[in-house]
Amino acid sequence: MIITIDGPIATGKSTIAKTLAEEIGYIYFDTGAMYRCLTYAYLKEKIDLDQPEEVTAFLDRFQFDVKIRHRERFYYVGEEDVTDQIRGSEVTEAVSIVSAVPEVRERLVNIQRELAIGVNAVFEGRDMGTVVFPDAKIKIFLVGDPEIRARRRYEEVRKKYPKDTEGLTLQKVLEDINERDRKDTTRAISPLKQPEGACVIDTSNLTVDEIVFKILEFKDSLRTHIPPTE
Ligand code: C5P
Repeated sequence: MIITIDGPIATGKSTIAKTLAEEIGYIYFDTGAMYRCLTYAYLKEKIDLDQPEEVTAFLDRFQFDVKIRHRERFYYVGEEDVTDQIRGSEVTEAVSIVSAVPEVRERLVNIQRELAIGVNAVFEGRDMGTVVFPDAKIKIFLVGDPEIRARRRYEEVRKKYPKDTEGLTLQKVLEDINERDRKDTTRAISPLKQPEGACVIDTSNLTVDEIVFKILEFKDSLRTHIPPTE
């Protein structure tokens, strides 16, 4: 079974998806990290995103991997551990541009569908319930107040990367969040939107445990309505 979790930036998607997956023994996939790994590789190789042939040719060479150590995920592009770099400002600023390229989406969506074959998994991203797995039984859409999301993201990056974020302000994080949300919701292909049949949860004032509990309640409520043959 596939559970999809979509929503804008800093609604807690990753933490919630990871916690939920651990609780019910599912695999967890962070599809944003895939787009980030590819963005890192494009930047490193200086690929011109306006040149479709260059973009597609590089997609054929692109290799990434996820390794799990002590319950933490480490992302690799080729042999290089890029776990920290993919969260940096350079990648974060470029990822919405890369993820709007049609060839990129087609390739990553195919990979995501292959990863889903025969497994129980929680897939987290922007188009999981709308495009990648439209038939998923359990779709979650997380929303939240932009100012609360900005504060959450600000505190998270300040704690994780104190040196790199010394000059960062809450206002700048709020502006970045609004801009990235705008790009993700208005792009031509697979824009971020609420999937049909999704359970919508406002995460602004809830703890991770409360949100996971709501998702499990939703899952159980569906189970009673799914015909036994399914
Ligand atoms: O979730 P995260 O913030 O790491 O995602 C980074 C970016 O990757 C998003 O802003 C969005 O542009 C893109 N993305 C996407 N489709 C997904 C997951 C992420 O376009 N399924």
